[in-house]
Amino acid sequence: MGLHRVQVPGLAAELVLGPQATRHLHVLRLRPGDRVQVFDGQGGQAEATVETLEEARAVLALVSGTGAQDTRETPQPVTLAVALLKGDKLADVIRAATELGAARIQLLTTRHADAREIGAQKLVRLRRIAGEAARQSLRAHVPEVLDPLPLTELGWEGTLAFAHPGSAARLGDLLIWDAPLTVLSGPEGGLAEAEVAHLLARGAHAVTLGPRILRAETAPLALLGAVAATGV
Ligand code: SAM
Repeated sequence: MGLHRVQVPGLAAELVLGPQATRHLHVLRLRPGDRVQVFDGQGGQAEATVETLEEARAVLALVSGTGAQDTRETPQPVTLAVALLKGDKLADVIRAATELGAARIQLLTTRHADAREIGAQKLVRLRRIAGEAARQSLRAHVPEVLDPLPLTELGWEGTLAFAHPGSAARLGDLLIWDAPLTVLSGPEGGLAEAEVAHLLARGAHAVTLGPRILRAETAPLALLGAVAATGV
C-alpha cells in the first residue's frame, strides 16, 4: 500500500498541523516516525515524517529530495461550470469532477435553476469534499470551488463547450489541448434560449452527449468523462 496522504497548508521543511489535520493523522493511526505523503492542494507534494503527534497539534518534517513532479493534471486546465442543483447532488458532482481532473469548478445560477442560491456552510462542505477527493485520487491539486455567478457573467479563456441536447458537435472533436477548456452543463430544466444564444454569440460550442437525455447531475460527469477518456 502507498503512503497515507495528508493535505497541508503549504510545503516547508517543518510543517505544523492544526487540530483538523491532526485529527486526520489520529484517524489513520499514525505514530511519530511514520512517513506520509503531504500535498498542498496547489500541485506541490513530498514525503514527510511525523515528528511529534499531540491531540490537536502535530509536527511533520519534510524528507528532502522527495518532492515529486505532479503528473496527474490535464495538459491545459479544465474548468467545470455547472448549474446549481437541488439537495446534495452537487456534492456527488464535485467529488467525481475532482476524480475526473477538473482544475476548477464554477457554480452557476441559471434561468431554469433547480436551486437559486447556496449557503456558506454548504460551500465550505463542497470545498472539503474536493480536498478529500483530491487526496483519494492521488492529485496534488485541489480544484477551487467558486461561488456561484449568473451564467451570463461567466468569462472563460480558450474553449468553452456547453452540453445542449440535440447539438451536432461532439466534445471529443474540440479537444486539441492548445488552450484551457471550460465545459458547462445546465440545470434540470435545461438552459434558457437566451442563455444558449448568449454563449453562442461569444464563441462557445454547443455539444451533444448522445441522443438520450441525461440528468443534470450526470451531464457534467459525461463531459468530464469524455475528457478523461482521451487519456489525459
Ligand atoms: N429538457 C432539458 C433540455 O432540453 O435542455 C433537459 C435538461 S437536462 C436534464 C440537464 C442538462 O444536462 C442540460 O441543460 C444539458 O446541459 C445536459 N444534457 C443532458 N442530456 C444531454 C444530451 N444528450 N446532450 C447534451 N447535453 C445534455
